[in-house]
This record gives sequence, structure tokens and C-alpha cells, in this order.
Amino acid sequence: MRKRNSGRFSRRSFGALVAAGSAAPALMAQQAAPASAPNPNTSQQRRGTIPETPPFEGPIEFTRREVPLRAEPFPTTQVRLLPSVYHDAQEWNRGYMARLAASRLLYNFRANAGLPTGNTKPLGGWEQPANADRSSELRGHFTGHFLSASAQLFASTGDGDAKAKADEMVDGLAKCQRQLGGKYLSAFPAEFWDRLDARKPVWAPFYTIHKIMAGMYDMYRLTGNRQALQVLEGMAAWADEWTASKTEEHMQQILGTEYGGMNEVLYNLAAATNEDRWATVGDRFTKKVFFNPLALRRDELRGLHVNTHIPQVIGAARRYEISGDTRFHDVADYFFYEVSGARSYVTNGTSNGEGWLAPPRELAAELKQSSATAECCCAYNMLKLARHLYSWNPNPRYFDYYERTMLNHRIGTIQPTTGHTQYYLSLTPGAWKTFCDDDQCFWCCTGTGVEEYSKLNDSIYWRDEAGVYVNLFVPSELNWNDRGFRLRQETKFPEEQVTRFSVTVDRPVQLAVRLRIPSWLQSGPMVKLNGKALEATAAPGSYLTLARTWNSGDRIEMELPMHLAVEAMPDDRTMQAFLFGPLVLAGDLGSDGLTEDLMVGPRVNGPPLRRAPALTIPTFRAPSRDPSAWIKPADSPLAFRTTGQSAEVNLVPLNSLFGRRYSIYWQVS
Ligand SMILES: [Zn+2]
Repeated sequence: MRKRNSGRFSRRSFGALVAAGSAAPALMAQQAAPASAPNPNTSQQRRGTIPETPPFEGPIEFTRREVPLRAEPFPTTQVRLLPSVYHDAQEWNRGYMARLAASRLLYNFRANAGLPTGNTKPLGGWEQPANADRSSELRGHFTGHFLSASAQLFASTGDGDAKAKADEMVDGLAKCQRQLGGKYLSAFPAEFWDRLDARKPVWAPFYTIHKIMAGMYDMYRLTGNRQALQVLEGMAAWADEWTASKTEEHMQQILGTEYGGMNEVLYNLAAATNEDRWATVGDRFTKKVFFNPLALRRDELRGLHVNTHIPQVIGAARRYEISGDTRFHDVADYFFYEVSGARSYVTNGTSNGEGWLAPPRELAAELKQSSATAECCCAYNMLKLARHLYSWNPNPRYFDYYERTMLNHRIGTIQPTTGHTQYYLSLTPGAWKTFCDDDQCFWCCTGTGVEEYSKLNDSIYWRDEAGVYVNLFVPSELNWNDRGFRLRQETKFPEEQVTRFSVTVDRPVQLAVRLRIPSWLQSGPMVKLNGKALEATAAPGSYLTLARTWNSGDRIEMELPMHLAVEAMPDDRTMQAFLFGPLVLAGDLGSDGLTEDLMVGPRVNGPPLRRAPALTIPTFRAPSRDPSAWIKPADSPLAFRTTGQSAEVNLVPLNSLFGRRYSIYWQVS
């Protein structure tokens, strides 16, 4: 989320930058990075028939035709986390959410509707109220995220207090909506819309509206709150009226201002209510200048603000699912392929200064342009997009991407105990992690943060007619009520290189359990069923299918032997990062000079490197291509130390490092 006029490029002038920048990649010759997801799907077959004219020219017609999904995640109500770092992160986040009072989250809405706010202390940062010195034009956005997060927390844990508080907020917001005429609902005045319409500077009104609508949708979908659906329908009717009065050309100009996932939430509403009207409104949020090259499989992403655009692509994915329109499929499919393969760092983070500043596959050059790398919102939204793509084509490589993102960019960007989260996960050598505080930040990533950590049980297990997919090695319990099948996964992975499952059934049940064999393994792993090693295994990057009749007490054990690996920048092979299995390793460069004000609060959304003591980043001489020749295990399970270097460095998983300076990428000769 970029504050307007604060950066080197603005979203509103992105078209000129697009035209200035990128070269079309040679599609067939692309080398995907090892962690990238596949580029499967039907576009290959259609390639010969791709039209020369832009796919999104002319009016877009919506016709409902639901595409059957090949796999779906188990509802989070059926999966519970067991004690682990994931469970810890869930609890730290729950604690942070509990410290924010409903009255404070409603303050700006009540003030905007002319309703009493009592002596409530308003929130700060990006929620700063209208009467404050530095009033935020984005106010209200975090309240929407908070509703989504509360709904997810209720589904994931059964937390009745979280639901009661969010129900109270929905009711409070419904009163504000009534006061404002029954449809429009926001924490800022209608004057913002006049500015948006006139193409005058305004931060991002539809971005904020999307968060509130998505919050209402999640409250309806996950907690059954009917009042939330009514509020959402009112807001959608307002959005219909506001957009219907614009010409197509003018609306396309308006879409130059960040609008979050307005398309997605309207498609979701259309699907939930069976009302095609909402999908037609959603179609008005099709930013054609962005979608056209993607549908033609061209990377024209350079110069774009990253997290303005990922939610639009999630909307495209949803549009494909409810209409079968393959243009939208191709937008989502190609975008994910390109961003995950050609524009992501070793952590799977993407973006720099919130933009894509360089051509594809020039990540070393990209990284040098700023220290504000890898915005957390982008990781959150790319995971969301990955889930859509996997449901169309359950290829385990999507979960290689997912696992690496989770382990390196999500776990480890929430501060233990406080539940404070990061904005940028800087990958600049010498960086350190910076965090929000309790009530003076409310960055975009604080919002996606509370959402992320309220649903860490999502997507561990997926299902289809044939059975279960096990995609993540996270201690948890699956309860497939309909089939009377429970699967308990116990592991300390990645601290231990094995995971174990035990089965409980109501009566013997025939189904397939498909274990993801991660691509980072060197060979097919040993799998034991009821203590006996199976003769069969499966290659890394595939599934091992165990199709049988399951009985209570059945046990599976899968070894996950990890090894050191090197990943070099595609445009500079001497700039290298090291991994142990799926874990990105960070070199610990100490904590000298790191004070609280350099690490926490509204002024440090990324590390202010110039305000920290100068630091020499060691360089390495590698005697072999095999990193295990010179990077040796140290005294704790996932710790390593270089050997034979002029300055030795301790390497530990990035996700375990807090309050320390680090480097991920090194110059290696
Ligand atoms: Zn963000």
C-alpha cells in the first residue's frame, strides 16, 4: 500500500512507466526458479489461438457458469493447530487483536456518520481520525481487516469472544450505514469520491471500501452473521450506483487509483447470493490496461505498484471460477507463474519500494534499488492466489511455493509475544526486522497481518472425491466429519526432519491420503505405514498416494531429510543465498547499535539503514559448489557456521532471528 505522492512513482502515472520499461519475455524459454510453481493449465493448449487483439477490448459480459474445482481446502473449522510455532503465532495475534477495543475500531465510522464517539481514544497511524493533525485518508481500512481476521479466528479456534466483539462491530457499523442513508458506509466523507471522480489526489477510497466489504463478507461466510450480509449488500448497491454513472473510459481512468479487490468481493457476493447483478458491478473493476498483457502472457509489470495489482488478479481468479471465462483464467495463471518464477526473491517475497522496478529475472539489480523489499501484504495475497490456482490444478509444486513463503516470510514476521507484525521484510545486507506498535501504525500489512495469523490452519489439508491431500507439515488435527475420518499430524518439523500421522475413524473408511513430497528433497523419502517401510515412494515434487481402507490406530511416518542448497540471483551468479531444506538461512551480524526506535513504531516500516552503525558485510570464497563443503552444522539443530573464511558467520533460519542485523544474500566467489 503506497501512500500517495510518497514514492518514486505513483500508481496514477503507471501507464507511462509501463510503456517505458519492459521487454516482452520469450515465453517458451523461461527458466523458472526452483521454488516457482508450475505453469500448467489449459493456456498451453490455447496458445495457438491467442488473438492479436487485446482480450479485454469492448464491453465485458457476465454469464454464470461455475467451474468445478479439482480440490478444495478443508474448512478451517475442521482443522485445529497443535502446539508449535504456528500455534504460538496464532495466540500472539489473538492477544494483539484482543487489546484493540471495538469502540476504538468504530471511532472513525461513528465520527463520519455524526454519531457520538464518547470519550473513546482514537487509533493512530493510518487510522488517524479526521480532526487529527495528520489525518489519514485510509481510515477505516484496518476495521475491515479486523472483521475478516475475527471471522477467521472464530472459524479456526471457536473463539466466541472474538465473534462477539466482531458481531458488536457489525451492529455498530450497520448503525453508521443507516445514519448515512442505508447504503454507503465508510469512515471518510463523500468528498473523497468527488476527488476520485475528478482525478484529483486522494489516497485510495475503493481500497478502503474493499476491506470493509470483505470484512462483512467474511463475517457472513464464516460466522453466519446475516446483518453483515445486509450491510454488504447495501455497500454493493452504493458501489453499483456510483460506478454505473461513469463512462467506460472514465471508469478505466478511475481504476488507475488503487482499489484493492473490489472485483473479488463483488464476485464473492454474486456467488453467495446467486445475484448476477453483483458480478456485473465487479466487472466494472476490470483494469484492462493491466489485464490485457497478462492474458497474452506478457510481463509488462515493471513500474507497477505490486500490491495494488495482486488483489485485482485474485479477483480475476474468482471471476474465472464463477464464469468459466478463460481470459480471466489466463490473467491469474500467467501472473502467478511470472511473479513466483521471475520476480520473487529467495524468501518468495516480491516487490521493492512496493513496486517492480526492474525487468523480470533481474533481481540482483532490483534488490539494490532500495531496502524496502518484500512487502508482507504481497506475500499474503500471493498465497491467496496460489490457493485458487491449486484448486484448479492440484499440482504439489504450488505448495513448494506456499511452504517456502509460510516458513520464511510469514512465520518470523510476527514478533513473539506482542503479536506485532512487519511491513517490509528487508533483504538488504545488514538489515533487521522492524515491527508495528500496538496502536500508532495500522499499515496495510498490519491489516493483512491480523488476517494471516488468524488462519494458519488453512490449506494444510485439501480434499477431493478420492480423499485427502497433505500439503504442509504443520502439527494439526484434521476432522473430516462427513467421512468419519480424523488425521492427527505430529511433528517438530523443521527442527526435526520427519512427520507422523495417526488415524482415527468412526468405522473403517476407504480413501486416499496423498502426501506431498517436497521438491527440496534430494530423493523419494522413506515412508512407513504402521511401522513398516513401504517399498514404494514418490519423486520430489509429486504426491505419494496411500489408497486403502483406514482403521483407527493406523500410523504413517514420513522422513524429510533436509540438505543445504544454494540459490543464486538470476542476473548475478555471485550473489547467493543459502537454504536448509525450505528454510532460508540468515547470517547473524549482531545487534550493535539497534535501539528500540530503530526497530519498532510508525517511523520504521522498514529498517532505516542510514541511522544504524556502518557494517561490513563479509564476503565468502566457496571451495566447492556444494555448500556443505564449507558451511558446517553448529551447536543447535538448524544452526550452521561458515568455515575457511576470513570472517566466519553463524547462519540460522531467517524466521528465528529477531533484534539482530542479518544478511540473506552474500557475494560468493
Ligand atoms: Zn502492506
